[in-house]
Amino acid sequence: MSMRLQGKVAVVTGSSTGIGKACATLFAEEGACVVVNDEGIEQDLGPQVVEEIRAKGGTASYFCADVTKKEDIESLINYAILTYGRLDILMNNAVTGRSSALMDQEEEEWEKVYLSTVKAVYHSCKLAIPEMIKLGGGSIINVSSIHGMLGGRSGLAYSTFKGALLNMTRQIAVDYGCYNIRVNALCPGRIVTERKIGFLEQNPEEYRRQKAVYPLGRPGALHEIATAALFLASEESSFVTGHALAVDGGFTAQLQDSIITPLEKGISDELLERDIIWP
Ligand code: NAP
Repeated sequence: MSMRLQGKVAVVTGSSTGIGKACATLFAEEGACVVVNDEGIEQDLGPQVVEEIRAKGGTASYFCADVTKKEDIESLINYAILTYGRLDILMNNAVTGRSSALMDQEEEEWEKVYLSTVKAVYHSCKLAIPEMIKLGGGSIINVSSIHGMLGGRSGLAYSTFKGALLNMTRQIAVDYGCYNIRVNALCPGRIVTERKIGFLEQNPEEYRRQKAVYPLGRPGALHEIATAALFLASEESSFVTGHALAVDGGFTAQLQDSIITPLEKGISDELLERDIIWP
């Protein structure tokens, strides 16, 4: 084990499942003490992640906090510092709220997406940065999306605030780089999480569509986003800040006609029918 995060303390918001869980687990495998968080909708999930990490010899604790609430974020960051004595890595990953096209976008849902993305990052960074300054540096990773880079269909709140997160990332990076605090964004394409796998398995057409539109011929796996997050969290990215890292199988690298052509004209059936070989 290479232990790239030995001695570091990490908070990963929304880490009881999906991308957050994969990142929290890998950070712990690499030696970090990790605070696992969710808002406790499925009560056992967060503590289970902690048990899994501990069973593999890692160090982790669970803290239930709703990132849409300032006081919960304060308690979460304070818990990490009180429990482990420092805070080196903050991964802002949780998101909540539904998105629609403008005319259908409900204000309440718009507000939830805003609170869980831009506002949550505003509060968490304000609390984490003074601790990181004391330590002589730190790494903040804001999970955006390819929808933060380009418009999708009917996703107003999501793409608005995931897009805002990208410039917020750059701005905080510029302002606090002099303290050796690095701030980067991850922009995942479609990643097959525990919650999405069932949907994909029941909708083979959606699987086919994703094979057709992703240049690598498949959506992403959880460990592929976790290793990108590890790179940003660790000293291996010591000269990388203010960056938006697309982890999207080449999706945002292609021209629109490269997407339309395989969908409308059909790419080789052999390619679409082939089983995905996961890395
Ligand atoms: P997921 O599987 O649905 O997991 C979301 C996690 O966030 C859960 O642990 C959930 O816990 C927690 N959470 C939700 N609302 C919260 C709140 N208010 N406070 C604290 N925790 C909260 O999500 P995911 O697909 O891994 O996505 C994670 C991040 O990656 C998101 O920022 C998403 O926008 C981004 N992303 C994902 C994809 C993808 O294809 N998966 C693509 C692009 C970007 P509870 O159950 O307790 O709510």
